[in-house]
Amino acid sequence: MLEDKKYFTLTGNPFVDGGIYAIEAYYGKDLSSLKPEDLKKKTDALVDLYLTDGWKKNMFSVFTGNSKFTNPSIKNKKEAALNYLNGLLKEFTPPKKNGSCVACGRREALPLRKRDEIPLTGSGNFVNFFSGFSQGERYCSVCTFAVQFIPLMLYSVGNRFMLIHAVSEKIMKYWAREAVKNINEQISSGNYTGCMQEGYKVSKNALFHIIEKIIRDIKDIYPDENPSITAYVFSNYGQNPAPMDIIHLPNNIFKFLVYIQRLDSSCWRKIVNKGYRNIKKDDDYKVKRNSVYENLLENRSIIEYFFEKKRNILGNWKIFSFYLKEVKKMDEKRIEVLKKVGDKIANYITRTDNTKRLYSIETAKTYEGLRNVFLKITKDLIAEGINPPLFTTDEFLNQLFPEGALSWKETRDILLFRIYEKLSEYLKDKKEIIKEINEEEE
Ligand SMILES: [Zn+2]
Repeated sequence: MLEDKKYFTLTGNPFVDGGIYAIEAYYGKDLSSLKPEDLKKKTDALVDLYLTDGWKKNMFSVFTGNSKFTNPSIKNKKEAALNYLNGLLKEFTPPKKNGSCVACGRREALPLRKRDEIPLTGSGNFVNFFSGFSQGERYCSVCTFAVQFIPLMLYSVGNRFMLIHAVSEKIMKYWAREAVKNINEQISSGNYTGCMQEGYKVSKNALFHIIEKIIRDIKDIYPDENPSITAYVFSNYGQNPAPMDIIHLPNNIFKFLVYIQRLDSSCWRKIVNKGYRNIKKDDDYKVKRNSVYENLLENRSIIEYFFEKKRNILGNWKIFSFYLKEVKKMDEKRIEVLKKVGDKIANYITRTDNTKRLYSIETAKTYEGLRNVFLKITKDLIAEGINPPLFTTDEFLNQLFPEGALSWKETRDILLFRIYEKLSEYLKDKKEIIKEINEEEE
């Protein structure tokens, strides 16, 4: 039999895989070449780290108060923890064709592991946890060993931890390097503060902050990889851990973030900042919810955030239409028609100086109201002898209002974005005029 001496393989289990990536970075070796005898060389240093005050605090929340790193009844924790880790190493076996381990599925997994070894085990899935339910779960010694490195990969968010999992080697390796950077800084300064942290209390904000950093730091991330990213936010503390939150960022949103950040990162910052309310202190953006982030994650529109006061817009049509196409999944033909109609209306307004029509579009209260303005513009165009008019019947039915009255406001807003962009120079000295017309009308 050809012996496969590669101990670690990625499993799809976020705790095990996170641990494997942490091990790779911590030992500075590729996972395929790591052997138990290499691993033994740095278990001592890991235990020393975990037993510092800063990390011990975190250990209670990652591995409960019963672990070898925390249990108050263990007098010599250093010895107990080291024996535990090295004991797991002694049980290392190469993977077989199959096995009962729920993570790798390639080794037998007895005894059952409990929450003090694998966070949140006991329920069989990660989301629900019932106090007193301590039956445990099947993890082999190799996977269990990997999970002991998970604290390095965790990012503190308030009282919980965020574990990032992406089907992207680049991202996971990058994050593991950040983890090792964090511990090296702590070791060299002698200031042990525990898991990675930057003061975030809102996990969605923290996740976007991390992804934005990933996009800045990994220059070739896209289009080489276009990953979706999942964050598991949990605490394993005490008898009654809080349920885990799972935040999933799909790859189309990742792609949009890459695009807008690379094209115009200050525009993206302005859009994001509009998602906060009542920011008073610098740290508020870490502790207050952000509706732009929330809308993106919950598949709601962020079109309104592209608009500034006084008919100004953020970004340009290139960015805006990329959002419509990639995130809103809008049909490309529809986007093209909306642009064309927006251009026609903008040209009409500059040509005729009829800013009243613009105001009517902005203030339309209903689908019929908006259609009416279009009708008036069409009549004006016909009177001018301009052909073809604003749009064809087919464009009207299929591209402008494919859902009839249902999403007319969205159509209106997209048109306005394009009109404001085209009229940005023209409108500069028209603001007062439009205001006067409006007052007259009222
Ligand atoms: Zn396993």
